[in-house]
Amino acid sequence: MNYQNDLAFAREQDRLDPLKNFREQFLIPQHNGADAVYLCGNSLGLQPVTARTYLNDQLNNWQNLAVEGWFQGEDPWLDYHQSLSGSIARIVGAQENEVAVMNSLTVNLHLLMVSFYKPNSKRFKIIIEGGAFPSDQYAVESQVKHHGFDPQSAVIEIFPREGELTLRTEDIVNTIEQHKNELAVVLFAGINYYTGQFFDLKAITDAAHQAGAYAGFDLAHAAGNVPLQLHQWGADFACWCSYKYMNSGPGGISGIFVHERHFTDTTMNRFAGWWGYRRDMRFLMAPGFDAEQGANGWQVSTSPIPLLALFKASMAIFDSAGNMSIIRDKSLRLTAYLEFLINEINLRQGEELFRIITPADPQARGSQLSVVCKRNAKSTFHFLAQNGVIGDWREPDVIRLSPVPLYNTFEDVYKTAALMEASIKAI
Ligand SMILES: *Cc1c(COP(=O)(O)O)cnc(C)c1O
Repeated sequence: MNYQNDLAFAREQDRLDPLKNFREQFLIPQHNGADAVYLCGNSLGLQPVTARTYLNDQLNNWQNLAVEGWFQGEDPWLDYHQSLSGSIARIVGAQENEVAVMNSLTVNLHLLMVSFYKPNSKRFKIIIEGGAFPSDQYAVESQVKHHGFDPQSAVIEIFPREGELTLRTEDIVNTIEQHKNELAVVLFAGINYYTGQFFDLKAITDAAHQAGAYAGFDLAHAAGNVPLQLHQWGADFACWCSYKYMNSGPGGISGIFVHERHFTDTTMNRFAGWWGYRRDMRFLMAPGFDAEQGANGWQVSTSPIPLLALFKASMAIFDSAGNMSIIRDKSLRLTAYLEFLINEINLRQGEELFRIITPADPQARGSQLSVVCKRNAKSTFHFLAQNGVIGDWREPDVIRLSPVPLYNTFEDVYKTAALMEASIKAI
């Protein structure tokens, strides 16, 4: 694709965009009476126009049916979570019984570690990416301590090589191989939140299995952003949140994946609760936990229906967009356009004022570009905000910009780059 640095080109791309009508299905924040340029969907996705209706429907059911809502109405609450599993299974590349919509992300990560991290004196190590999202670091550290091990020796972080910004797959694979005799779990993000690097999850899974360890993934920045094939890749477990690329609202419902090969493993630990009990026998309230087959057996508590309703509004939009490859196709072009424009600024300025630390390989990234500002980083971020471009700030000098294919436009990207260039003189 030949990109051009002009507004007419950007508008023409928007006119040709097969997903162009999806933008109307979202509420775009306003800035000085016009749509802001929202490039922050990696942090909090925008509100679907229908979110209010989906939520209201359930408030009405609560009002009209009260406790009967569990069993009556169009979508009885008892199985409401099930009405979402087809959509989310398509997004993460799983079978429907391999996913469960439940809880919040870090809570789910802990629950999955209870099942998949069973260290003994020989195998107790966890490999994670260096600079993982803090919540994942804390979760892993506390799991290790909970089992009486020392995070210093049990948690192996992999960092980029000297002078490099992102991880090489070969280095990940080699590190896994090096620790193979003591390795229990490899836990990686799908996409690193800071650099935007999309890891080779298939290669990591294979390497973990070769080493006799489990492979688990935190897909917070990957689900709804890049195509995933968890089942086919053979990943053991995964979790994600839905409030980033999946637009379910602040603190929205999370979900888990457990590969079907683990469903018959009766030695697996789990922290059980009644919502994970066999659906057909749950209300007999019998003693002794008997898990529901599949990922739903990891549920613990009563489904939070309002959160599920908000998520459903967004999943309906994903369903109508078709499969992830249509979304990915636009995402690749939008992100490449932003990259092109930023590189153009650097060329014109004769200096790399904006350094993109996200991999240049489109297969190794999603929608996000992380940009290091060489000068006046914080003021550049504020300048963008004052002019209606909402990005995301990370200390000490990184601006994350995520053009999201369902609601961002080529014009959004064009405006952002133009303002980045204007900021050089203005600050
Ligand atoms: C956003 C994010 C989280 C947040 O976890 P919550 O439990 O939803 O607060 C955790 N891990 C990663 C990798 C994230 O990107």
